Amino acid sequence: MPLIKRNKKPKKRIFLTIINILIITLILSVVITAGLTFFIINKSIANLPDIDTDNINFAQNSIMLDNEGQLLSTVHTGSLRTVVKYEDISKDMINAIIAIEDKTFWKHKGFNYVRLIGAVKDGLLGGGEISGTSTLTQQLARNLFLTDKRFERSIVRKIQEAYYSMQIEEKMPKEKIIESYLNTVYLGASADGIEAASNIYFGKTSSELNYIESAILASIPKAPSYYEPLNIVDKKDLSKDDQVIGNRDSTYVYVYNTNIEERFKYVLKLMYEQEYITKEEYDNGINTNIVELLKPAPFSNSKISTYFADMCFKQVVEDLAKEKDITEDEAENFLLTAGLRIYSTLDTNEQNILERNYMDEGGAEYFNSGLASTVIQYQSDNGIDADGTIGPNTWASLIEKGYFKSDQDTSPLQEGDTDKRITDLKKAFLKEGYAAYNPSISGIMITFVDDKISVANSWLYNYRTSFTRKGEFLIPNTYYTTNSNGDYVVEPTYYLDYYKSDDGYISLILGDMYDYRGNSSDRNDIDYGTYYLDYILLYQNAALNLPQDYLSIDSNGNIVISKNIITDKLATVNEFNELQFNSNNCFVPDIPIVQPQSAAALIDHNTGYLKAVVGGRNLFGNALFNRAATPTQTGSSIKPLAVYAPAIDSGIASPATTVVDKPTYEFNPASSSPWPVNFDGSYRGVMTLRSAIVNSQNVPAVKFLDMVGFDRSISYLEKNGVTSIVKDGDATDRNYAALALGALTYGISPVEMASAYGTFGNEGVHIPWKTYTKVTDQSGNVILDNTSPVGETVFTPEANYIMTDLLDDVVIRYANEAQIRYGNSGIPVIGKTGTSGAQEQNVDAWFNGLTPYRTLSLWVGSDRIISLEKGSWFVAQFWSEIMSDLHVDKEDASFASKPDGVVYASIDSQSGLLPSTFTPSSSIISDLFISGSVPTRVDDSRTQITVCNETGKKATSFCPNVSNKIIFKYESSGYGTCNVHTSAPPPPKPETSTEPTPKPEPKPEPEPEPDPDPPVETSTESNP
Ligand SMILES: [Zn+2]
Repeated sequence: MPLIKRNKKPKKRIFLTIINILIITLILSVVITAGLTFFIINKSIANLPDIDTDNINFAQNSIMLDNEGQLLSTVHTGSLRTVVKYEDISKDMINAIIAIEDKTFWKHKGFNYVRLIGAVKDGLLGGGEISGTSTLTQQLARNLFLTDKRFERSIVRKIQEAYYSMQIEEKMPKEKIIESYLNTVYLGASADGIEAASNIYFGKTSSELNYIESAILASIPKAPSYYEPLNIVDKKDLSKDDQVIGNRDSTYVYVYNTNIEERFKYVLKLMYEQEYITKEEYDNGINTNIVELLKPAPFSNSKISTYFADMCFKQVVEDLAKEKDITEDEAENFLLTAGLRIYSTLDTNEQNILERNYMDEGGAEYFNSGLASTVIQYQSDNGIDADGTIGPNTWASLIEKGYFKSDQDTSPLQEGDTDKRITDLKKAFLKEGYAAYNPSISGIMITFVDDKISVANSWLYNYRTSFTRKGEFLIPNTYYTTNSNGDYVVEPTYYLDYYKSDDGYISLILGDMYDYRGNSSDRNDIDYGTYYLDYILLYQNAALNLPQDYLSIDSNGNIVISKNIITDKLATVNEFNELQFNSNNCFVPDIPIVQPQSAAALIDHNTGYLKAVVGGRNLFGNALFNRAATPTQTGSSIKPLAVYAPAIDSGIASPATTVVDKPTYEFNPASSSPWPVNFDGSYRGVMTLRSAIVNSQNVPAVKFLDMVGFDRSISYLEKNGVTSIVKDGDATDRNYAALALGALTYGISPVEMASAYGTFGNEGVHIPWKTYTKVTDQSGNVILDNTSPVGETVFTPEANYIMTDLLDDVVIRYANEAQIRYGNSGIPVIGKTGTSGAQEQNVDAWFNGLTPYRTLSLWVGSDRIISLEKGSWFVAQFWSEIMSDLHVDKEDASFASKPDGVVYASIDSQSGLLPSTFTPSSSIISDLFISGSVPTRVDDSRTQITVCNETGKKATSFCPNVSNKIIFKYESSGYGTCNVHTSAPPPPKPETSTEPTPKPEPKPEPEPEPDPDPPVETSTESNP
């Protein structure tokens, strides 16, 4: 520009003007910036609540301990925290965290002004995003007061953080600040705070951390998920190169994370530079092998199934809700965050004995749940040397079948391995149809119909023919047709059904499937018919997930799958004309559930404490379906609880009270067949109560229930802790089949059965079952207390004594498999069997029994209605095996001795009355009575007649040889009168013709006779 060159003065003026403008602009911008800043700051902090640094509550996980104070489980929301005091944190730890995170911590006033201004400038120029590190105080402010904005990087948050930081610095001493910081900082591997981290990584407390461990932990806060030294990995998802450091629980393991190493060295360097450690310590530390230092403490006892802990958690939540008058959700939240200690009743030793009996005892420990025996079976079926170890040939066979790749690591497995290979081996064997066989659990009886297994109202389909080995679902060509469009039409069946939601979404539902041990070539041999198998494997919840574009329902209600499924390559039609769906649209459960299943609940009836529990044969994993806490049909094992003990306790009957066991119609008038029938179809005539309970006859049980009444029966059950009786409505249990024979709407769970039977061992006092003795808060105050369990008297000591005597007889005379010492002496067993299902069908089989020490309820059955091969005697035997192990070191003991209020009396066993002069000695029994209830009436059912020795009929006055005979009065007419000696020998006497012929006697009471019609099987019969 030439003009500029020509005029020099204006240039200066212009320059001054520019200066002026700049100054004005600067002033203006300072004012504007200040105003803006003020506005932002004001807006940022105006609505913040005041902070109370004196009452900072950190959420802390609770812990559950076994009966010896060892960790059973941690109760947490996902991470652990135990609050620790400044004095209890190692100096090295404090130095390490200051060295890396905030080296001027002891001097600054909460934040670094230089850093803050820089941050605000960055924020203004950088679109609201700010970066940069913060002081420990700022981090604490964030952790404590801005948790919901922890990951937000806005100016507002930065200002709020500064505001809180200043408040913290003003109100809290530096020591309290760093203590709070170390209690709040997230340190990876679900460790909130330093104490949890010390425990999770090193199995120690934070006071014991040395400078190396401290440097490791101080490396983490910058990016916990990246730097955490241990990753938590599901055992199922382990990869070959994972370095497993230990078990977290039964599902997860700890895997070493090498990312920590560089950062750790950097922390050490800073500690050295800031003179927290010497050169020598630094040099030593640099060469640390971090893996060797890691000794993680488990989250829970990984050797015990989670059934107990789940039950305990639930009970504590319920009790807390009641105690504090809060909702169960609130109670649960409190339990998860309040740092409580739950002193559980679990006896680890007894739990181990119980679980060991459920596993194959021959199995090596490292295989868990009896894999070794499964391996032997597999090897034997596949022509491999059967030694139970995974040798090269076994690996080769599994590789050939496609379960492992050819480069699979086939090195020997070691005891204690938590190798992914073990999990994969188990899966492979299960998918081959092999499961750990438990010889103490009955096999099952199943009926195959065209390769399907018939179960009540449904079918189980063959897993092998429903899925390919690669997990591709198959629709056989007999199940589909094609319509005029060429689309595939499937009529809904249990095999493939659909559910259409209100908004039209179609879900395809696959039927339940079975698999079992054996070569697939054998399958054809058992397409039809009923067979006994050791077990089957049940696959549930398989699914076919197809995009909605391919699905519709036609006017006939059939599923239409578009032909595009083929062109779009979601499925193919294979060589057998089956529709074969890609495996990524198919969901197949990894692990099938072995059937039959079983559950057991072990209670100390003197305290009500639940000592051990097994909720199923699958002992590993979390949140397992707990059959010990799920009601199931009880069969005859309900009789002592709902019929006999109530009858005796309320004075309605004694062991000598009799009823007639004969076909009867009165209890089921709608039916033309007699009801109930006894399990073996026979009737035994007059029976005492004792004989009826011992032989588990159904007709007498119904008759005694009739005397007791439904209301009284239910009331006794409820007093005894049974909660699952349905009292009203259409499906009420207020009926004979339910209360006398155990055909209940829901049934009773094993734990409630054990709790109710336990009353017999505690002199008639029922103590509700409890999973914990006490729960304490952080300060050790007891907030829930079961240390002095209180019970309710259900049966008088007298009635209870009589019941123990009756149940002793049941074991001696009927279920002697349950005895644990010879002759049921030393440690006596009392109890009762029970089986559900139609006659001899054995759907559920029980033994509920007790010794003076423990009550164990043991159930065997299936998750579907499938018959067991063997009934309750088999369960009684398994019961005895478990109880023998549990009592091996126990001294002889006995149940409460006979109270004075119980007396013996001699009774006529046919009438239950006092013997008369006509009662033959063989009919006189001695039995127990509650004093004052001994019958006073003398039996009058018998009479004496004179019979002719020749004809055996009633003698006439002409019979030459006669004898006296005692008969029941009702038998009298059956005898007739001697028709041989009708007159005197010659000379004839005229009187003879006038001798009155015997008058026909009234028709006698019909004698018990087998019913002409075979008993009709119903599902409401109760077997022994
Ligand atoms: Zn005669």
